[in-house]
Amino acid sequence: MSKLIDSYNRPIDYLRISVTDRCNLRCVYCMPADGIPLTESENILRYEELLRIATIAVRHGVTKIRLTGGEPLVRKGIVGFIEELAKLEGVEDLSLTTNGVLLKDFAASLKKAGLKRINVSLDSLKRDRFQKITRGDFLSQVLEGLEEAERIGLTPVKINCVVIKEFNDDEILDFALLTKTKPYHIRFIEYMPFEVEETWQKDKYISTSELMKIINSFQELIPLGNPEKRTGPAKRYRFKDGIGEIGLISPVSDHFCSSCNRLRLTADGKLRTCLFSDDEVDIKTALRSDCTDKELEDLLFNAVRKKPERHNINENIFKKCSRTMSFIGG
Ligand code: SAM
Ligand code: SF4
Repeated sequence: MSKLIDSYNRPIDYLRISVTDRCNLRCVYCMPADGIPLTESENILRYEELLRIATIAVRHGVTKIRLTGGEPLVRKGIVGFIEELAKLEGVEDLSLTTNGVLLKDFAASLKKAGLKRINVSLDSLKRDRFQKITRGDFLSQVLEGLEEAERIGLTPVKINCVVIKEFNDDEILDFALLTKTKPYHIRFIEYMPFEVEETWQKDKYISTSELMKIINSFQELIPLGNPEKRTGPAKRYRFKDGIGEIGLISPVSDHFCSSCNRLRLTADGKLRTCLFSDDEVDIKTALRSDCTDKELEDLLFNAVRKKPERHNINENIFKKCSRTMSFIGG
């Protein structure tokens, strides 16, 4: 069976599915306080439609699937959907990104359904600041969710932390030090430019190399594997006495486009081949007009062929994406 390979010879084996644009939080860098205009529910892909696309993608080489959103755990039926995805032969890695608010209640059933691991977004360990960033008072629920995910074996539990200057950069060490007492993988992510109330400003951005200096000045980090030959976007490190890991993800300062293996499916049925490119391929129209699997395959292959060589955040031509992360699925 032919594999999905783009025009730059990159094998595409990672599908990120945004199952909803709804969310129970309103993070300042992702959504305006009143939320974004929501897609009518009939325009959100149904689970059987998502499963059909996933099945075709897996047939053509996709081995990793991540569910995201919006907040995937607010969509009804998510556990049953995961159960179906887990049955697909060829899926080696099935994961989910969540804000963690509902994780404690869901962890056991997610694991039982076949989810392998989880990424939890958490930008502050302080209650008032968590509230400021997410516009919700749920820090204790998220921390309980992390504990439960670890207990139940949705591991490694990864924590995604977006670092913003003068917002949460004074907590970099607190997060890093968590890896000495917990087996968590803390992944520091550079703040990316999306169109949310003009929140993104260049002076709020802090690069992972600055971040690394802060951690190294406390205690030298040990690189894991060969940072030049990373298999995922993170450069991985640990403290010599750490039980967890620290990952640095630098989409802005040090893009990993040359090894990008990702394809995204938005909740409203668009294939998106680059997080930062608004060039999308509509797949919903075909799905809803009795198309054959072959026609869907062609759309998938066409989308992959159009995948750009790289993003251009650091160049003058860069403009912010017109869709928010909650819509694209981060
Ligand atoms: N609701 C889930 C969550 O928050 O984990 C999944 C969707 S959320 C859009 C996925 C990830 O995108 C989160 O880790 C979030 O921190 C990240 N994200 C959203 N906007 C971002 C931005 N402007 N820059 C960097 N990361 C961003
Ligand atoms: Fe919701 Fe995740 Fe966006 Fe926060 S980052 S508003 S939790 S979708």
